[in-house]
Amino acid sequence: MALTPAQLQKQKKEAEELLFSGPETLGFAKALFFGHCNTSLIFPYPSLSPETKTIVDQAVAKTRKFANERIDAAAIDRDADIPRSVIDGLAGIGVLGMAAPTEFGGQGFNQQGYVQVMEVLGGHCSSTAVFVNAHHSIGIRSLLLFGTKEQQAKWLPDLISGKKLAAFALTEKEAGSDAGNVQTRATPAEDGSWILNGEKRYITNAAIAQVLTVMARTPAPTPDNPNETKITAFLVTPEMAGFEIVEGRMPKCGIQGTATGRLRFTNMRVPKENVLGKVGRGLQVALTVLNFGRTTFGASCTGAAKVCLQAAVKHAKERKQFQQPIAEFELVKKKIAFIAAHTFAMEAATMQCAAFIDRGADDYMLETAILKVFATRELRA
Ligand SMILES: Cc1cc2nc3c(=O)[nH]c(=O)nc-3n(C[C@H](O)[C@H](O)[C@H](O)COP(=O)(O)OP(=O)(O)OC[C@H]3O[C@@H](n4cnc5c(N)ncnc54)[C@H](O)[C@@H]3O)c2cc1C
Repeated sequence: MALTPAQLQKQKKEAEELLFSGPETLGFAKALFFGHCNTSLIFPYPSLSPETKTIVDQAVAKTRKFANERIDAAAIDRDADIPRSVIDGLAGIGVLGMAAPTEFGGQGFNQQGYVQVMEVLGGHCSSTAVFVNAHHSIGIRSLLLFGTKEQQAKWLPDLISGKKLAAFALTEKEAGSDAGNVQTRATPAEDGSWILNGEKRYITNAAIAQVLTVMARTPAPTPDNPNETKITAFLVTPEMAGFEIVEGRMPKCGIQGTATGRLRFTNMRVPKENVLGKVGRGLQVALTVLNFGRTTFGASCTGAAKVCLQAAVKHAKERKQFQQPIAEFELVKKKIAFIAAHTFAMEAATMQCAAFIDRGADDYMLETAILKVFATRELRA
């Protein structure tokens, strides 16, 4: 069914508001569409200072050791559960607060450091990497970027120490790629609190999190349209009356270990102190936070690709057919070169997105989206 001109106009207006209402300076990828190649935005290739590199290398080594000794990826996949000992261990070596400020107990890493740790986890156990991504890269990140001082002081220390876990709930039946189509409603009550009604699905950590960032539609009347609504972000905790876990662990084809859940909110009262960011600015909260999640997701895919490359090279050298290692055949070499080239591109794109964040770039929404599509598709290929 084709969209009406009015629907098309509305979608265009929403997209323009999201994509072009913010910074004056276009990001590198967006500028390409206007015929500009702003190389100054991407060169020189990002690198860490020697002092930072030493600290990051130590964290990478510690994470690799922990993963090798304590994370049984096959068992996590088989049992469809990440044991509490793994979560506690990750908290113990600082992974759950790697990019959070030290004042809250975090490690204070920049994104270029954090992605290197996420690369290790992605190469070892994709479920564990996705769990950390949901908890830290998008869960904790919402609070870091948009939380008030009070909200940060109240929630961050427990989230960083792993005492509490975080989740980020945007997706629902009518809002997947079309993130702006959230139907969960938040109605203001007389005392200033909000009453939430709606359902969320495909939410990582939904059933195990104690702090959830939830997107809901709130009234935003205009002179032209008294029924206008916008999205607002709320901090929700499972003990709120009306919070229901409909399904704690939805079955999946892969990354079985993560708890991907469905939630329902029925007349759930959320105090006004739990509004995250400004009322009506929730979509910006969501899209900004997702930039961070996509960057560390790219890192995890890069880690997995590196492991695949190592395994492919090892096998090709050891496996003999027609009295010679298959690594000597032209087409096998071509396949390995393909994996190596694409793994390199995944790593470079990840580091570039992390550097955009660290340099405080105005706009990198398209770059992180490109990274996520590219990295996940290359890994699948
Ligand atoms: C393992 C897992 C964990 C997740 N964790 C979270 C989480 O923690 N929090 C959360 O909020 N969400 C989470 N999600 C949801 C995820 O963000 C959505 O799945 C995603 O936004 C896509 O939505 P959808 O699945 O409804 O697909 P749809 O939006 O229905 O898309 C279906 C297909 O249509 C294509 N398509 C859609 N629109 C267009 C278009 N305009 N042009 C061309 N093609 C289009 C898509 O590319 C896709 O191939 C998770 C999903 C998975 C699988």
